[in-house]
Amino acid sequence: MKAAIGVDIGGTDVKLGIVRHGQVLVRRSFPTASISSGPKALEEGIVAAVRSLRGSFRGKVESVGVGVPGLVRVPQGIVQTCANVKGWKNVPLQSRLRRRLGVPVRVDNDVHAMALAEWRYGAGRGVRNLVCVTLGTGVGGGFILNGKLYRSRLGPSAEIGHVAIGETGPACSCGGSACLERYVGNRDLLRILRRKLESGAKSRLPRLAGGRLDRITPEMVDRACEMGDRLAIETWEEAGCKIGLVLSKVVTLLSPDRIVIGGGLSRAGRWLFEPIRKTLRERAMHPLGKIPVVPAKLGMSAGLIGAALLGQEALNE
Ligand SMILES: [Zn+2]
Repeated sequence: MKAAIGVDIGGTDVKLGIVRHGQVLVRRSFPTASISSGPKALEEGIVAAVRSLRGSFRGKVESVGVGVPGLVRVPQGIVQTCANVKGWKNVPLQSRLRRRLGVPVRVDNDVHAMALAEWRYGAGRGVRNLVCVTLGTGVGGGFILNGKLYRSRLGPSAEIGHVAIGETGPACSCGGSACLERYVGNRDLLRILRRKLESGAKSRLPRLAGGRLDRITPEMVDRACEMGDRLAIETWEEAGCKIGLVLSKVVTLLSPDRIVIGGGLSRAGRWLFEPIRKTLRERAMHPLGKIPVVPAKLGMSAGLIGAALLGQEALNE
């Protein structure tokens, strides 16, 4: 039985798991903070954790895949930038890990990994063309086109969060401005909401947050929606319109079979999904906007399962 180790580098933890047929058999993790001193420390952390996982497993581990929250040049697996770790610039993580671990290794962007996982085992099963989106602190994307993960020669692709939604707007870390992420990324969404509250908008949210506007979370916004809070509902409506607008361009250009949306903010459910669907129907070229938009299924495991699929990909080449 073929098993692969998936490594998912996240904002707080580096998660690892032995994965077989889309099932995570054994899990491990170590804090990302302890390796924030640089790429070398992260490499050491991954090598130690992979060795320990392999030691604890009776079967054979044939490959390792790593999902990185940043820009990765493939197939070389060179990490151009990494969102959570300082000092990363063109780090050849794939070749270094391969040399030290002695098995095929594939390093790619974490949302690309998630797209692979949702396509093979989750909400994207059975289609040939899939668009996958994650909504969290960052807004990312991954495209499966003609039954294959789409990759660009330069590394970044499907960067849905960095599509501009207006001619002018706030500057973005990518060098652009008015990027979708600057409106609907976790922090930006809450910042826009706080600004409305500070200028006198009525809402139950301040009370839910114990009077501290800086403590408002997306989960509180969801709860306020259930109570019929107008501002909370409007927050997801506005975010959904913007996400839908960008997706309407993607749909008009690619006409995928399905759109899968995951990440922390997608827990808002219908409050967010309905405005996205409505905007798609209105703004994408007819009849393409009727495309199904569904929530991701694999939750927190998508990153691990997808990373393991990356490893298997390296094995098959
Ligand atoms: Zn940007």
